[in-house]
Amino acid sequence: PQRIVIVGAGHAGGAVAAQLRQSGFAGAITLIGEEPVVPYQRPPLSKAWLAGTSSLDHVILRPEDWYNDNDVDLRLGTCVARIDRTARAVILGDGEAIGYDALVIATGARPRVLGLPGEGLTGVLSLRNLADAEALKTAMIPGKTIVLIGAGYIGLEVAASARKAGLKAIIVEREARSAARVASATMSQFLERYHRDHEVEFIFNAAAKGFAGTEAVTAVELADGRVLACDLVLVGAGVVPNDALAREAGLECGNGIIVDAEARTSDPAIFAIGDVSFRPLELYNTQFRLESVPNALEQARCVAHVLTSTSPHAPEVPWFWSDQYDLKIQLAGLPLDATSQLVRGDPATGKFAVFHLQGNRVRSVEAVNAPPEFMFGRKLIAAGTPVDLERLADISVSMKQVAI
Ligand code: FAD
Repeated sequence: PQRIVIVGAGHAGGAVAAQLRQSGFAGAITLIGEEPVVPYQRPPLSKAWLAGTSSLDHVILRPEDWYNDNDVDLRLGTCVARIDRTARAVILGDGEAIGYDALVIATGARPRVLGLPGEGLTGVLSLRNLADAEALKTAMIPGKTIVLIGAGYIGLEVAASARKAGLKAIIVEREARSAARVASATMSQFLERYHRDHEVEFIFNAAAKGFAGTEAVTAVELADGRVLACDLVLVGAGVVPNDALAREAGLECGNGIIVDAEARTSDPAIFAIGDVSFRPLELYNTQFRLESVPNALEQARCVAHVLTSTSPHAPEVPWFWSDQYDLKIQLAGLPLDATSQLVRGDPATGKFAVFHLQGNRVRSVEAVNAPPEFMFGRKLIAAGTPVDLERLADISVSMKQVAI
């Protein structure tokens, strides 16, 4: 291709532009993003940003000069309205058409809106971008009460940040435990204990019914009639993929834009990467929508290699991390086809790992303050080699020895 257009200047979009230049692509690159900021990392937004220990310089992937120096036509504050597949062009809001030989869709995902009465009140917030993070940080005044709707990773991380900032934090969760969609029961229990030790209150099996207040929110109303007085609400109820452009252009979509192992959509000239893509996971013989930085980076590398015909792509083990208080949580693989679990170490010590197994093969690992368990666990998942379960359970045997 001579002209590559990237829609979405987030983590995946920014990374693919850089990877293309690194792989020697000398043609035209246009990177179009709705937000007014150069591509940046979102993970700090629920952590260091709220603590006030991060700044724009810390979170941006590359300084603005990099785009000029590398001849990347960066169009910020610009929304792509539609894709004309016949003309091979993207159409901007003002009607301008930008032609492409290859198009990369990296439009990410947006927070799920609950559709509840009062959701538009001042102080009912969500967290996806820098503007959201700044609004949340400003509203996090010591002594105030924040209610978090959803005990997923965003809710848990913001609860930890809110406690650090001196707010009272209450988490409302529909399920019976925290992070139920992604974490094992052992992990959920550990996280709940840790958060309770930091005076976070959990309300499980509870659905929000609406938000009360005249202009600003003053309370969350639960379906069972309970009313939680508060000054601030963060809705962290998952995300939905920004796949409307692809759907309207007739590309095959499921839970996001369906792509193959090379991140190619049902149109061979169009690729989709990052949170918006519904991608194959060769390791688990399934199709999945991953929401993580490592996934965005892996797919960005993959597309750059495909478009420049450089080194072939080797599938990676998916992974993810989360920081809460002083906890370093690292997850590798997915427990999709695991049949048993093994806990290495004692959760009471704040340092342990849950291995998800199929027979004596590791399929995924959840590690808390246990980097070797994470690192070697990831290797074991990739290799698919059987392990001695007795040795894996014995913390006197190092992970390095277990992995031999
Ligand atoms: P995004 O980074 O969301 O970028 C998509 C961009 O496309 C956005 O800027 C959007 O405005 C733009 N866009 C959308 N539609 C259009 C359009 N039509 N025209 C132009 N532009 C458009 N992951 C981890 O691995 N570890 C973590 O600890 C972690 N913490 C997180 C904490 C928070 C608060 C959040 C929000 C996410 C976190 N994530 C974490 C997830 C990670 O940030 C995402 O997986 C990653 O950003 C995905 O990159 P992306 O490029 O696919 O999407």
